[in-house]
Amino acid sequence: MDNKVREKLKKLKIQVQEECDLCKGKGCDFCCAKFDLYEKCALSNIPIKYWNLKLKDIAGTIGVEHIKKYVEKLDQAYEDGNGIFISGKNGNGKTLAACSICKAALKRGYTVRFTFLNEIITSFTDAMYSPDYRLRLKKDIIEVDFLIIDDIDKAYIAEESKYVNSVLDSLFRTRVQNCRPVIITANVGLQEILKSKEEIFSKSLLSLFDESLLTVSFVGGDKRKDIKKEAMEKFFGDDDDPSS
Ligand SMILES: [Zn+2]
Repeated sequence: MDNKVREKLKKLKIQVQEECDLCKGKGCDFCCAKFDLYEKCALSNIPIKYWNLKLKDIAGTIGVEHIKKYVEKLDQAYEDGNGIFISGKNGNGKTLAACSICKAALKRGYTVRFTFLNEIITSFTDAMYSPDYRLRLKKDIIEVDFLIIDDIDKAYIAEESKYVNSVLDSLFRTRVQNCRPVIITANVGLQEILKSKEEIFSKSLLSLFDESLLTVSFVGGDKRKDIKKEAMEKFFGDDDDPSS
């Protein structure tokens, strides 16, 4: 956990208690549980900006209903090892949706890890040389209950290689065989990747994706514009600056 995340948690702990209607700042089970979820988000590597965003923030996007259903049936998804492949254009809420699944899973006591492909590749490489890293790889990536790989195609295209393919292949195979769900977000849909003539992913990896992942495509406006507008208003909008 880096310093920024640690500082954010410290502030949140105070804020959550102060805002608690039940104990009015003294600290109780209710606000402890609320803070506990933030702490779990941090430990699972979920980016700070998604800790408070919810599925209803992208309610207008087509495809979100499927994510809601997936969250409702999370225990079954875990039991069956069903992961999900969320595709859509930049900014229409794929990462937010993946993080919502993460939070729901954390609330139910599952372990979760949010990663990018390059982090996975680095973890595998580090594990070759160090037993400590090997243990960490096993716990955080291979055996974690829900593994999220965000923006898989973006990093992949930059790092296309046999090594990346073999790492992903072995990771997926192990997880699929043990019914451990993987949540993937990508700009391109799985069907498009399957049909594509470009061999970005190996054929055996693609058939593993196809057999183990439910697919959802997001269609909707660019949420980043709204978030940007809100951020601009929040930052520049207040006029009660005494120095002005
Ligand atoms: Zn409280």
